[in-house]
Amino acid sequence: MRERVLQEISGESFDAVVVGAGVNGCGVARDAAMRGLRVLLLDKGDLAAGTTASSTRLIHGGLRYLEHGEVGLVRESLRERETLLRKVAPHLIRPLPLLVPVYAGRRRGRLTIRAGMLAYDLLSSSKSLPRHRMLSPSEALGHAPGLNSEGLRGAALFYDAQAEYAERLAVENALDARARGAHVLTYARVERLMVEGGAVRGVVFKDLLGGGTQEARAAVVLNAAGPWVDEVLEGSPAGGEKLIGGTKGSHVVVRAFKGAPRAAVYAEAAEDGRPFFVVPWDEKLLIGTTDERYVGDLDRVEADESEVEYLVRETNRVLPSARLTRADVLYTYSGVRPLPYVAEGREGGITRRHFIRPASVRGLFSIVGGKLTTYRALAEGAVDLIFRALGRNPPPCETADVPLPGAAVEDFEQFKHDFAARSTLPPVSTARLLKVYGARASEVLRLAQTDAELSQVISEETGSIGAEVVHAFREELAETLADCLMRRTMVGLNSELGLDALDGAARLAQKFLGWDEGRASGEVEAYRKYVERFKPPAGAPVRGGGSLT
Ligand SMILES: Cc1cc2nc3c(=O)[nH]c(=O)nc-3n(C[C@H](O)[C@H](O)[C@H](O)COP(=O)(O)OP(=O)(O)OC[C@H]3O[C@@H](n4cnc5c(N)ncnc54)[C@H](O)[C@@H]3O)c2cc1C
Repeated sequence: MRERVLQEISGESFDAVVVGAGVNGCGVARDAAMRGLRVLLLDKGDLAAGTTASSTRLIHGGLRYLEHGEVGLVRESLRERETLLRKVAPHLIRPLPLLVPVYAGRRRGRLTIRAGMLAYDLLSSSKSLPRHRMLSPSEALGHAPGLNSEGLRGAALFYDAQAEYAERLAVENALDARARGAHVLTYARVERLMVEGGAVRGVVFKDLLGGGTQEARAAVVLNAAGPWVDEVLEGSPAGGEKLIGGTKGSHVVVRAFKGAPRAAVYAEAAEDGRPFFVVPWDEKLLIGTTDERYVGDLDRVEADESEVEYLVRETNRVLPSARLTRADVLYTYSGVRPLPYVAEGREGGITRRHFIRPASVRGLFSIVGGKLTTYRALAEGAVDLIFRALGRNPPPCETADVPLPGAAVEDFEQFKHDFAARSTLPPVSTARLLKVYGARASEVLRLAQTDAELSQVISEETGSIGAEVVHAFREELAETLADCLMRRTMVGLNSELGLDALDGAARLAQKFLGWDEGRASGEVEAYRKYVERFKPPAGAPVRGGGSLT
């Protein structure tokens, strides 16, 4: 399969090569393929393994951006939230209630928060989610019994949305792009841009699995490499100017504790006034983030000790019943926001808007910034631009109306009901397949029914089954066990980082995918090494709590 794609690439002249298969690159590839362009999507690693896997997973307008006057961004994000939630990906995105506690003596008082809420509601007037409500202290404690009651003046309750498995949003875009004729190749690192006569002619890439180097010719190159955008341009006539000024954000993941909130808590850190989230996520709690300028290795971004301490300490302040220590941190993950470069100023003040920057080289464009939430709108703008660069009028974009493959059924709620009725799997596995694959759960179930071993549970915690492993490699472009566990089956996000499913997955690959012993043990070892980056840094236990006022 991979060999065939490589061969086809060498014989093809593409309209566009998209460099980077994060949510933005995958979204562009899908839109471009839907509008009839010949497109190639390349990534040096797996789909969605970059920034897209490191976000807080909120599909949100960004209440905070209102403070920075980013009204246009908030309006666009709220519109996109609605589109994704109702039309494009209802199987992956769900409404999320958020609670903003108000404390005496803090920077953002009740009036400020209420004003923000009113503006947020106003900017999303056509939304289907409930409007905000201001709560009394006792009502707030009803929603989050563990909240610090000292100085509590009440709370605002409002709604945004969450993509628990943001990775799958990108994966489904890439799979749909491929189904519509796009070429998609992972582990293909772009080494050089080909430029002739002031115009881009394509890219030279290295096949990181097979080892060869190859050209891909195209009239347009879209650099969607996230925080790596400047690296891709380096050495070309378009290189030199710094486009990206990345800031690092880290999260910690803990088990739900006594008094854990049912709604996400959106609190102001006592130490520096930065907002941070404690979000119910994947049966656990996701806490983040930090925001610090980053100049280190983009290929290995890890939470450092001070970030973990900060997040644990601030959680204990706002939710004292958590009594978290470092030992409670199951794992951490960090990413670099691909923000536009600005020489100085507060990190939180850097715009979260995206820009599609044309280079001095004709036909070359780079994406700077962007949120998970707005990937579809960004892709629409980028594909319009590609058409214009090709000298053609862009046909209408349909991605706001055509659901992703996992939502491509008349009525998703009805589908869930029917699927549960015909599933022969344990209820936990049935629910899991629906949550991860949406309507494509039928494909996995069909595969599971071909062999008893494929319907066996491979992770007790998640209920994931053997067929998912085989499906990931055969149908969803997984190349390694890390791709399979971390970004297809999503088992890798469980409290054991998927290590509970690792040996079973390797055995299934041997039996059903023809791996030999060497490949299986090599993959197991590589996975163990891969997840090391998520282990919390060692250090002194964090003392918790303290006053909020
Ligand atoms: C801490 C944090 C929290 C966030 N929280 C949210 C949130 O809650 N909600 C929200 O909407 N947004 C959030 N974001 C923003 C959002 O995650 C990103 O803006 C988005 O994922 C960027 O996607 P991308 O496709 O542009 O980049 P990426 O996902 O980074 O993809 C770029 C890809 O390019 C590839 N690449 C790099 N170099 C090459 C090369 N030479 N050849 C081939 N491929 C290459 C990489 O391997 C990578 O896969 C957050 C970001 C961070 C860091």
